[in-house]
Amino acid sequence: MIRLLCPVLILLGSAAAVAQTADAIYYNGRVITMWQTHPVVQAFAIRGNRFLRMGSNDDVMRAAGPRTQKVDLRGHCVTPGLIDSHVHPIIAAMPEKAGPVPVIHSIGDIQAYIRMQVKSSPSERIIFVPKVYATRLQERRYPTRYDVDKAAGDRPAVADNGYAAVLDSALLTRMAITRETPQPADGKIIKDDRGEPTGLILGVPGLLESIRRPAPHSFGDTLWALKSMQTHYNRVGLTSVIDRSEDAEGFRAYEELRRRGELTVRTYLTWVISLQGTRKQVRERIEAIPLLTGWGDDWVRVGPLKAFLDGGILTGTAYLREPYGRNTEIYGYVDPGYRGVLAAAKENIVEMARVAEELGWQMTAHVTGGGALDVLLDAYEAADKQKSIRERRFTVTHGNFPNPEAIARARKLGVVFDCQPAWHYFDGPAIKDAFGPMRMKDFQPYRALFDAGVVVAGGSDHMIGFDSRQAINPYHPFFGMWMAITRETADGTVMEPEQRITREEALRMWTRNAAYLSFEEKTKGSIEPGKLADFVVISKDFLSCPVDQIKDIEALQTVVDGKSVYESPSGW
Ligand SMILES: [Zn+2]
Repeated sequence: MIRLLCPVLILLGSAAAVAQTADAIYYNGRVITMWQTHPVVQAFAIRGNRFLRMGSNDDVMRAAGPRTQKVDLRGHCVTPGLIDSHVHPIIAAMPEKAGPVPVIHSIGDIQAYIRMQVKSSPSERIIFVPKVYATRLQERRYPTRYDVDKAAGDRPAVADNGYAAVLDSALLTRMAITRETPQPADGKIIKDDRGEPTGLILGVPGLLESIRRPAPHSFGDTLWALKSMQTHYNRVGLTSVIDRSEDAEGFRAYEELRRRGELTVRTYLTWVISLQGTRKQVRERIEAIPLLTGWGDDWVRVGPLKAFLDGGILTGTAYLREPYGRNTEIYGYVDPGYRGVLAAAKENIVEMARVAEELGWQMTAHVTGGGALDVLLDAYEAADKQKSIRERRFTVTHGNFPNPEAIARARKLGVVFDCQPAWHYFDGPAIKDAFGPMRMKDFQPYRALFDAGVVVAGGSDHMIGFDSRQAINPYHPFFGMWMAITRETADGTVMEPEQRITREEALRMWTRNAAYLSFEEKTKGSIEPGKLADFVVISKDFLSCPVDQIKDIEALQTVVDGKSVYESPSGW
């Protein structure tokens, strides 16, 4: 049922109607505004790049003039433009230039991709299979060199995820890695019972650097990658994103497309800094950046500083509160005393938080294990002692295991969360076994975070590939919302059902809450008078369709800044 507009708004609405005529009116719809006082309306009007008014068909039609475009929504549902709080658009699109990125769910898929590359790629090139995680393979283990040999023959080939790599026999020979090779200090060369390398190498970044180096690309390629990825984002209803790691070249690419008027997704840009070296070096590194959170405009805005505090839950390098125990076989090793990788000195993390606060930066950090999250909150507390960080919206990126103490500390500090529910669709079943029930009760506890009043934004951590549901990681926003609502995983089991959230809360993660993370809640995140006209017409009624259909919702039309950037070829 449609609520009546409150008196003040009727006044505002009438004044606007006298002074301002709508450029376009969308009517006969079910418009989920995310505007607290008017959650669902029939119609809304746009003038220029802003929403003008919303309400019943009759009320909104009063803003029509002779040239107003009228769009009959024919009962379709509309949501505010969707915002993904964590993507990597340039690096995600770039490999697509060389051909489709492989979709890998098993060792068989890896072999099939390698066989294809043997036929189609130059024979001197090392065959590189990216983003191979044992937690996402049906076999729940990494392939061995022999599995890779079967497909690669005598071609050097590697299945890699940036931390762990499986080299085939040809590549091991070329790199002179044998049973005699001593164990490196910064990783492990896994050997079998006979002492032979299995092909799996964990860590040792220096050794594998040359293999991982991305193919050289031009600035033109970077622009192509960014533009292509934005087009794909528009197709699923995304109108804004937070890019979670950029450098100077990335900033230049955004600026160049902004200048040309070719951006179709609004972006809040994250600047990554290294925490290696001394405290003084960390401070100098931050002081040298000629930018500050908030600079820019509604298309491209400077976001936070970001550092990496630990590894990941897909590679067994998340830094935990206590040792992993004996369930880590899936990651290629068992070491009962191992807690994961803390990638930075605690004093440097504290220094970063202090300098960020001092200079006016927002800060975030990649933390996946509970131990890393606690270290980050320690640093945020230290900065808060210097001067309150509440207004800075310091952020936790990932933060997979916030226990009740961590949630209470985050709430007190005004710390916000950048979360990725769809991540555990593929990995959940394997992670459950590796981390065990005690830790899993704190795994992505959205219900507990919402109940505590912590602002949680939704995103994907999209890193590679165009396909919205098969990419790593899937970035389809309705798939992500469905995960937060149902917590179902690929094998049909439900993870920690008591941590489910409602449909409205899930949509809030991809709208108002994500806008809050970038200090833009006054200009976007809901359909309200005066806000930027970003919205999406969708294929099903998000609030009342059967819950299983939420993951299949598609964008029919996406509008950014009052302009249509995508229309479904099948029409509506
Ligand atoms: Zn990321």
